[in-house]
Amino acid sequence: MTSEFNKTVRGMRDFLPEDARKLRFIEHIARETAELYGYDEVITPAIEYYELLAAKIGEENRKRMYVFEDLGGRKVALRPEFTASVARLVATKLRSAPKPLRLFSVGSLYRYDEPQFGRYREFWQANFELFGSAMPEADAEIISLTDRFLTKVGLRNYHFKVGHVGVLRGIFSHEGIDEEKQNSIMQMLDKKEVEKAINLMRETKSSGESLDTLKGLLDTSGRDLNSVIEKMRKIVDGYPSSVEAVENLREIVALLKDGGLKTGILLEAGFARGLEYYTGSIFEVYVPEMNIALGGGGRYDKLVEIFGGEKTPAVGVALGMDRILIALEKQKTPMRYNIPKRLLIIPVERSMLGEAFKLASMLRDDGFCAEVDTMGRSVTRALSDADRRGIEFTVIVGPKEIKEGKVILRHMTKRRQMIVKLDKLSEKIREESD
Ligand code: AMP
Repeated sequence: MTSEFNKTVRGMRDFLPEDARKLRFIEHIARETAELYGYDEVITPAIEYYELLAAKIGEENRKRMYVFEDLGGRKVALRPEFTASVARLVATKLRSAPKPLRLFSVGSLYRYDEPQFGRYREFWQANFELFGSAMPEADAEIISLTDRFLTKVGLRNYHFKVGHVGVLRGIFSHEGIDEEKQNSIMQMLDKKEVEKAINLMRETKSSGESLDTLKGLLDTSGRDLNSVIEKMRKIVDGYPSSVEAVENLREIVALLKDGGLKTGILLEAGFARGLEYYTGSIFEVYVPEMNIALGGGGRYDKLVEIFGGEKTPAVGVALGMDRILIALEKQKTPMRYNIPKRLLIIPVERSMLGEAFKLASMLRDDGFCAEVDTMGRSVTRALSDADRRGIEFTVIVGPKEIKEGKVILRHMTKRRQMIVKLDKLSEKIREESD
């Protein structure tokens, strides 16, 4: 056998039933959260034009895209994120949709990252975007929605790291640093390459004052929100658009607190994220058990316009479902929602198969997960199979009982069985359930 037949491609994973169920549980809660906040789902393709996806994703992510030419000669790529696709919709098909426009997406994404703990080449995100509002209440809504989703999913002890790219960009613009250089500096800061970032700023002939301001910001962070904001405000004095950014951050944080957010916030003045399109608030989610982010988001007011749409301010969040799954496992949180009770229907002989099918159908109508033995097993072997698989009830269908409109119901763990009339079966199963 060729070795390509018995393994997955590096960075790609199979989700066996238990893990698939957990991932779908997280997706289910994301969908419920979307409904609670009025976000409508959109489904966009996994393959898009390279140019669209590459436009503003940032150098690091751009280098890691799966790019190829399709058979029609188009330069395309597998999506590394949802935001570009959703912004494309808002620039085109949803151009005249009334604002605010709240959109939700979920699915798999592709980045040629170096596989390691919590980092895969195919991974999953639940993504929420709010288009049309430049107000701080929109930023606060996205953080509040993230908070509700994470609480609903059962995550504990997480916190938000919050910053604002306007604070740093305000200084860079004031010093006349062009956008490309600004992006490079931001990418370095995102990768914690502080020295490199400062050196690059020096090369642009930035003033000594601006270097001190940057260093001051990089040293400013904390959970006492008011005092961090005051400190930031003092540091950026003299950089008007940075001052504006700090005031915007003050409003967002105040709204969250006034709105009853209990989750801790760590404000970081020098916080930067890899994606290039951010223009305002940015945030990430962390748990103490892991030093990688479970999700991240922020404001991006220019992207829709870059894609040819109307000027449309926007803010969104992408939650990494794989990493949330790891975090929940580390915190030993059960990841199950109400799955139907499982029953195995065992015909005692082949002539009873039709009755067994009919019975299974009736039980499914009543909301049970009913499975008919398909292995032609004897009753004894079918019962031990049910035991092995932890099935709680079996229903044994024999000709004698069927003639009287009855079947044998067996509670597997209690090792108790009883003869039950067909029209009372569902009721009896519920009664006998643990
Ligand atoms: P981003 O789209 O880069 O803002 O990432 C948002 C979230 O997606 C991150 O916080 C991670 O939880 C998740 N994520 C990003 N890249 C990967 C990856 N290669 N593997 C697993 N999760 C990822």
